[in-house]
Amino acid sequence: MSDSVFPAGNLMKGKRGLVMGVANKNSIAWGIAQQLAAQGAELAFSYQGEELEKRVRPLVESLPGEPFMVTADVTDDASMDACFDTLKARWGKMDFLVHAIAFAGKDELQGSFTHNTTREGFKRAMDVSAFSFVDAAKRASALMPPREEGGGAMISMTYLGSERVVPNYNVMGVAKAALEACTRYIARDLGPLGIRVNAISAGPMRTLAMAGISGGRTLMKTGKEWSMLKEDTRMEGVAGAALYLLSDLGHSCTGEVLHVDAGFHAVAVPDLADED
Ligand code: NAP
Repeated sequence: MSDSVFPAGNLMKGKRGLVMGVANKNSIAWGIAQQLAAQGAELAFSYQGEELEKRVRPLVESLPGEPFMVTADVTDDASMDACFDTLKARWGKMDFLVHAIAFAGKDELQGSFTHNTTREGFKRAMDVSAFSFVDAAKRASALMPPREEGGGAMISMTYLGSERVVPNYNVMGVAKAALEACTRYIARDLGPLGIRVNAISAGPMRTLAMAGISGGRTLMKTGKEWSMLKEDTRMEGVAGAALYLLSDLGHSCTGEVLHVDAGFHAVAVPDLADED
């Protein structure tokens, strides 16, 4: 377990859930998974392709309990059918879903949004990064217990580029705006079933997805310098927020986008120079 995991406890004991989006040890989904496992959750991990399986398997096998892996390409209905069929066969029911998946082409994550966004690129970013949550939520909710037996909880991962213009984030910002809206609509639909649905808006973190964004290093630097806490967004904060939202600590919280970014989102003007 990494340093970013809080001491073990029982907040997730008896709860089973699917974590989508672990690519390596730096993935946000992996930080969240470790925190949930430390609190007793039973986990399944979806991965895309053989290459990823090789990288992710050792991580998964380092966790306590009997975590397992299941393949799922979120753009492929047959693959998603097979993934949720496996969950149903292994567990029968599940209690939570972590969606930490996004994709846009490298060419579209730089320069002019207006000129660099193609029809295909737009559709792909929306499909992988926003619709996939709708699809996974529909499938996961079908396996969640009725509200009198606890209902369920789901989270998606978003970024401030959905609300404000961030250089080079471009079509991903549009996809994240859609993802946040999807999160609210899903929360409305599933609320009567006792299923809570929220999003975490994390500040910039050093992951593979971040490496695909042109100028990512500057985003990280600015994220720290302009933040209220004057620090990088920490995995323990993001994983802690996930634990709150997915455990019973998060009762009554749904349809929310929770910012975990050292306060960056609330700053309109960075610190003024002393001569003012
Ligand atoms: P990451 O480690 O690269 O994780 C992204 C995951 O999405 C990878 O596992 C990737 O698998 C998966 N994915 C992409 N296309 C897929 C598909 N068609 N089917 C299944 N899986 C697919 O990066 P991360 O930063 O942790 O990203 C996790 C989430 O957090 C994303 O939604 C991201 O936008 C969000 N987020 C990140 C930051 C940040 O600064 N890093 C900040 C706020 C929000 P492959 O490797 O196979 O493509």
